[in-house]
Amino acid sequence: MTSTVKYLLTEDQMPTAWYNIQADLPAPLAPVLHPATHQLIGPADLAVLFPMELIKQEVSQERSIEIPEEVQQIYRQWRPSPLYRARRLEQALDTPAKIYYKYEGVSSTGSHKPNTAVAQAYYNKQEGVKRLSTETGAGQWGSALAAAGAMFGLEVLVYMVRVSYAQKPYRRALMEAYGARVVASPSTETASGRAVLAEHPNTTGSLGIAISEAVEVAAQAGDTRYALGSVLNHVLLHQTVIGLEALKQLEMAGDYPDIVIGCTGGGSNFAGIAFPFIGANMRGETNTRIIAVEPQACPSLTRGQFTYDFGDTAHFTPLVKMYTLGSTFVPEGIHAGGLRYHGMAPLVSHIADLGHLEARAEHQLECFAAGVQFARCEGILPAPEANHAVKTTIDEALRCKETGESKVILFNLCGHGNFDLQAYMDYHAGKLQNTAYSQEEVAMALAGLPVIA
Ligand SMILES: *Cc1c(COP(=O)(O)O)cnc(C)c1O
Repeated sequence: MTSTVKYLLTEDQMPTAWYNIQADLPAPLAPVLHPATHQLIGPADLAVLFPMELIKQEVSQERSIEIPEEVQQIYRQWRPSPLYRARRLEQALDTPAKIYYKYEGVSSTGSHKPNTAVAQAYYNKQEGVKRLSTETGAGQWGSALAAAGAMFGLEVLVYMVRVSYAQKPYRRALMEAYGARVVASPSTETASGRAVLAEHPNTTGSLGIAISEAVEVAAQAGDTRYALGSVLNHVLLHQTVIGLEALKQLEMAGDYPDIVIGCTGGGSNFAGIAFPFIGANMRGETNTRIIAVEPQACPSLTRGQFTYDFGDTAHFTPLVKMYTLGSTFVPEGIHAGGLRYHGMAPLVSHIADLGHLEARAEHQLECFAAGVQFARCEGILPAPEANHAVKTTIDEALRCKETGESKVILFNLCGHGNFDLQAYMDYHAGKLQNTAYSQEEVAMALAGLPVIA
């Protein structure tokens, strides 16, 4: 019997600062532009949506940003999270590779999302905000923000993508248990929701549409700010506790990764595990391979265009330069709901453009097969999103078997799948299909990109 190998840090070994990769970029990010005028946007333009402290973090060039004590206290409920060596999976694959996974499913709501939800709720509370509006895809972000809002005494309003609202009733029940109000998106409560419904009454909804609704509400109500669960620089910043802890834990194990792998929807859990390692690569200290894995059904990094686009469907958000499939792109209702976003975080996009990461896209059936194999070896059922990272990890470990190389692989197991059992039922019943887009379909969605003078 192989014994489980677990690397635990004590509470006082938890990082007390987040890592800001902007300090190590060889070229700065492209500026953010106003959605209507296409002029450079300043901090004041964003103040209706976000508290000033988060806007400062968005543009900060400091390498290290202190985690407020109150946020650290809440983090300590589940952090530092464990790092495991997947010995049973290694054995099943008969690979000479060493596989490590950082497990973020130990948080209150079962994923990495609380790492930023708690920080965002804290800064909003500090600045006197009463209510947060947001969108959620699979429900992971909505539940994380609902829990964080409850802890800080903030109201939370969640626009939940319609297909997930139907597929994931338990996520909705969880958000409501925390006291949040959950509305299926597109809804009749906002002008942007009504506009989409008038044109596409049977739409599955999308994150781009739900973001428009949440932003519209925040822009109109003085006591309400908007919170985003991925994509933005400050969100990716908050997630870097994952990689910073993993660095220390691998040091305990006496290893350093040759390959770091994360799945990418908007890019936040990937950034969380990978940015500290990419930073070391950029500083010339290491040469770690970094792999971002996305679904074939929503392939922004591998088939999108690196250009300015809106973050939402109704074009309320600023224009950011990112890999995008076009803001009107509505991906198939695949079960990895957290990965159904038309764009990729500007930071992750920029780093991809600079050649500091490899991107690949996988089909959902192969990802579920990998997730089930992982669960049978390691006991943890991964979230459908995380299965993309599991699939790539298994592929890389099998390649090591061919070449006989004993590489060290680290991946982010960003959440458990205990709320996603319908997805696993559908998978085992043979109801899931692979979808890939034709070149024409991708080109059509890209044709609607804004033209920047
Ligand atoms: C939200 C979510 C994702 C996708 O978002 P990223 O910002 O790309 O991390 C992936 N996995 C899980 C478990 C999620 O909750």
